[in-house]
Amino acid sequence: MIKVTGFENQKVAILGLGRTGSSAALALKSGNAQVFSWDDKIDARLQAETHGVPIFDLAALEWDQISVLLLSPGIAASHPYAVKASQAGVPIICDIELLVRTHQGSNFIGVTGTNGKSTTTWLIFHLLKASNHQVEVGGNIGKAALDLKALGKNETYVLELSSYQLERIFTPFLKTVVLLNITPDHLERHGDMSGYVRAKKRIFELQRGGQNVVIGVDDEECLSLYHKLLEKKTHVIVPVSIKTRVPKGVYVLDGILIDDREGKAERILNLKTLHALPGSHNWQNIAAAYATVCFEGVSKEQFIEALQTFQNLPHRLQEVAVIDGIHFINDSKATNSDATAKALACYNEDIFWILGGRAKDNGLDGLEQYFPRIQQAFLIGEAESQFAKLLDGKVSYLRCHNLSTAVQEAYFKAVSYEKRPVYILLSPACASWDQFKDFEHRGEVFKALVSRLPRKLSIS
Ligand code: ADP
Repeated sequence: MIKVTGFENQKVAILGLGRTGSSAALALKSGNAQVFSWDDKIDARLQAETHGVPIFDLAALEWDQISVLLLSPGIAASHPYAVKASQAGVPIICDIELLVRTHQGSNFIGVTGTNGKSTTTWLIFHLLKASNHQVEVGGNIGKAALDLKALGKNETYVLELSSYQLERIFTPFLKTVVLLNITPDHLERHGDMSGYVRAKKRIFELQRGGQNVVIGVDDEECLSLYHKLLEKKTHVIVPVSIKTRVPKGVYVLDGILIDDREGKAERILNLKTLHALPGSHNWQNIAAAYATVCFEGVSKEQFIEALQTFQNLPHRLQEVAVIDGIHFINDSKATNSDATAKALACYNEDIFWILGGRAKDNGLDGLEQYFPRIQQAFLIGEAESQFAKLLDGKVSYLRCHNLSTAVQEAYFKAVSYEKRPVYILLSPACASWDQFKDFEHRGEVFKALVSRLPRKLSIS
């Protein structure tokens, strides 16, 4: 845990006692701050209390005496206590602001974007570690920022930064910014697209020193940001594309990673054969990670070698078992149709598709083009009736209600199907909360169900 200094004997409020709030409370306490922490949920309060977090109902707080409010990323600024803090002029920050203030000499790489943040952050971390750099990874993935190891001068933190966190960091700290893509998401929180873009753009205001930028240029918003940054002439910019050649950038053409930073269009690697990162959407993540680690002095050879040992985070197109040519793929992280489209695009045909849960507003939008690849769909959760109607007459489906039935039925069908390889793909295009704690829980249950399947199934 990191000891947060600079708040000795000051009063600090914390709202939200999940992973980040609890660790921040303890980190501040160890630095002798006076901590007042609260969560609206009793379970969270009790859990935090068992770890030594002091609980105080913020309703009774005198806000004019508070130095900062640390607001969990999941809580909107419209929460009544956050409104009270704002009215009293109390700065609202997140835990990363505290990490940054205590580690001014360290090297920070920040990764943001609508999709691919976790994969890219994790990949950059792996590539640096495998190339013998002192490096820690966290932020929006894995450990909370203040649970990371304290690093020294020039050692590197690789942080995934969500738009919520970016709005609550004020101290410039980033040597390298990675912005992957911007497409509509979380608009309910940011009001509209311009609010969301504004939140993402904040990452450039948080740069200090190096001014390195790695930016995907395949969507309109990022492309326009790229041109604006070029005009400013203040940054060292590497554009990244998987759609087109980008001069002075890193791009992927027909699966080949090409480095044109020096204007030489050097072929680096064929990405089509990388099993740990399937699908063309991952090419953007790999290209961005490559450009980023080059800034840190990683050589082409080190990159290629390190990539071979990379294992992606669980629940993202994760192959959890292969039984007699039947591949079981856990893509539980696909909580909307955009993410599921990426998964369906990875397998040419012969997919047995498990989907459903709590549906998003856009249902199965954009997936129809992949329907011919699906042998059968297995529906679960609240979305079952809605999805049955959407698939009717287009894809053969079975109503399974729950994941356990879906896995068994899909396995049974796949065993009696004559072709190999075949894919049993859990890519739900839905949130998990109707039947599971979260997408991780759903993915773990899938894995456990698969592990209990009989290795030989006799078909009568
Ligand atoms: P995030 O952390 O931004 O949610 P992840 O790396 O966890 O992103 O990937 C989540 C899902 O987003 C993946 O399962 C995949 O469907 C999709 N995805 C990953 N990378 C990209 C990308 N570069 N562009 C578009 N979609 C992507």
